[in-house]
Amino acid sequence: MHLNSSARLPTQCFYSDCPSFSRDSSFVHLVRKGVFFRSSDSKYIARFQCKICNRSFSTARYSSCFLQKRRRLNDPIREHLAQGMTQRQIARVLKTSRKTVERKFRFLAAQARLTHQQFLQALVRSNNKFDLIQFDEMETFERSKCLPVSIPLIVEPKTRKILALARKYPLDS
Ligand SMILES: [Zn+2]
Repeated sequence: MHLNSSARLPTQCFYSDCPSFSRDSSFVHLVRKGVFFRSSDSKYIARFQCKICNRSFSTARYSSCFLQKRRRLNDPIREHLAQGMTQRQIARVLKTSRKTVERKFRFLAAQARLTHQQFLQALVRSNNKFDLIQFDEMETFERSKCLPVSIPLIVEPKTRKILALARKYPLDS
């Protein structure tokens, strides 16, 4: 049996209400508690047990894809969405349901927002000043061409990274 040997023993208990957090952290309170097979990506996942609160957890708990059953679809769906493919078409190509594609779309959007936030925080920490930023605006629509949306953007022209964007409904004003 292949064991996921790359999973190191965590240094802290997963549960934040565990009494181990208030104790001396040098005391090893976590032990291995076997592995389980995750069929959604055919991987062996290591389990650990906390000897202080007696609860157990696995390395899967640290992943943003925790409890996902179709995690193999995350990357292909991200690529297809980035190429402008419709959700219905993606579902047809990947032989899955539209509901799955919609759920993945929402999950990937949340992930992208988080990544962008981290990117902006890193920019603030690095304290680099921009010589130039560009304001731009793109026009698109939601549901119907009778419902236009304009998206003002702030872009860093050298790297073409989007720093901020908003959504405006011209018909509302
Ligand atoms: Zn614990």
